[in-house]
Amino acid sequence: MLSTLIVDGKWQKPFRWPADLNHLWEEILEIEVGGEGPDILIWSRANSGKISYNFAWHEVRAESEAMSWTKELWHPIQPPRMSFLCWQAALNKLPTLHRLKKWSQIQSDLCPLCGVEDETTDHLFLHCSYSDFVWASISVKSSKTLEVTWIPPLESWLKVNSDGYKSEDRFAFGALVRDHSGDCL
Ligand SMILES: [Zn+2]
Repeated sequence: MLSTLIVDGKWQKPFRWPADLNHLWEEILEIEVGGEGPDILIWSRANSGKISYNFAWHEVRAESEAMSWTKELWHPIQPPRMSFLCWQAALNKLPTLHRLKKWSQIQSDLCPLCGVEDETTDHLFLHCSYSDFVWASISVKSSKTLEVTWIPPLESWLKVNSDGYKSEDRFAFGALVRDHSGDCL
């Protein structure tokens, strides 16, 4: 404790003070000796002197510009676990079998839903036959489904159809990628 270094109201350098910490002693000498009571820990970078998880997080993380979809994704009405899942998917950080196989003993990363392709984030949300079924179910249940004519792309080209919905308190987004024959990829 620092108080053990104060003798008769002055800083007293210990006899065995490490030479490589002399710069620290110089800093200590600049601290005015005074006050009474026991030593307390103070986080000097916080105005309150106390550190919190929130403060520490902002101290250690690299600040970056917010993405355009940040407000919608982290909307207060959105269930946090859904926001977190979408956030992981957007950053391709979901614990899919494809990712888990890279650092674990998993033998196969084949999608357990369709058993056809590797379970990647894109496959789960866009390419899997099961996700096709889910997207189709959502479309059927929607009361505002529009009838459109789909025109296939040129051969060897892909066409992406996307749609979204946004109200004051929630949003949804979906996309399909098809080749010239209309098959979903
Ligand atoms: Zn699948």
